[in-house]
Amino acid sequence: MAIQWFPGHMAKARREVTEQLKLVDVVFELVDARIPYSSRNPMIDEVIKDKPRVVLLNKMDMANLNETKKWMSFFETQGFYPVLIDSKNGKNLSQVTKAAEIVTREKFERMKQKGLRPRAIRAMIVGIPNVGKSTLINRLAKKSIAKTGNMPGVTKKQQWIKVGKTLELLDTPGILWPKFEDQTVGKKLSLTGAIKDSIVHLDEVAIYGIEYLQLRDLTTLNKHYNINVGQDTPYIEVFDAIGKSRGLKLKGNEIDYESVVELIIRDIRNEKIGKYTFDHISMLEVSDEE
Ligand code: GDP
Repeated sequence: MAIQWFPGHMAKARREVTEQLKLVDVVFELVDARIPYSSRNPMIDEVIKDKPRVVLLNKMDMANLNETKKWMSFFETQGFYPVLIDSKNGKNLSQVTKAAEIVTREKFERMKQKGLRPRAIRAMIVGIPNVGKSTLINRLAKKSIAKTGNMPGVTKKQQWIKVGKTLELLDTPGILWPKFEDQTVGKKLSLTGAIKDSIVHLDEVAIYGIEYLQLRDLTTLNKHYNINVGQDTPYIEVFDAIGKSRGLKLKGNEIDYESVVELIIRDIRNEKIGKYTFDHISMLEVSDEE
């Protein structure tokens, strides 16, 4: 789904999420484990404020595990509770409920002390498009799809999905806009399929992807396309090599660059070459110094 985000849309999205937040005890902030920084909404902290939060790094199956571990520690030092999941295959989902219990424990203790009756923890999912919000809701809902009725006081009919005995999840996720100011972030969002339209030039995305692979995983790159390029080979020569190797040519034997670009992006998006994390912790340290 391609959404053009205009200021009016952003304000509306923020308003809606703010309304939903009033109904819940905990927020699940969903990010793509391949780009745990780039796939976060730029105003997320201002929107969620101090509501207990669990950061769910989704699509763990597609990310580089070593890098993911570093991001987990990073989120911990930021005071969030990170959980690594794969919504598509339903991996680690029991951790989601556990994390919700942990971050809301204090609140529920206080409620108990006041003599309030125990109830399920109420949660909602928030994130930019394509990080896997619907997939996760469907996965969690499958366990027990019993819905507990409409919420009074909200215009949109929101329903609660029961997840096990201890958790209730809003059936509509909060959709927030992605970061767009930064060119590199845009390329990473496109490379992972978070942005599918042409906000970023596809040529630029493919160049970014190829240069990333040349630097980080040259052997696999060469093997995958059956080519033999070096770390410093200019991208156009890499494109030529891939075009030749895959027979992507136009009439007159010219390389069909458009097809080469599409192939590279498709291969990276679909994890055909390898598992990559495109955001690195060091990148945050650099931007802090600037
Ligand atoms: P939403 O826009 O945030 O609701 O994202 P969707 O739930 O529509 O998911 C976007 C794409 O990511 C779909 O093609 C999903 O199948 C895929 N997806 C979601 N979660 C995972 C995951 O954990 N692993 C993998 N490999 N793909 C996922």
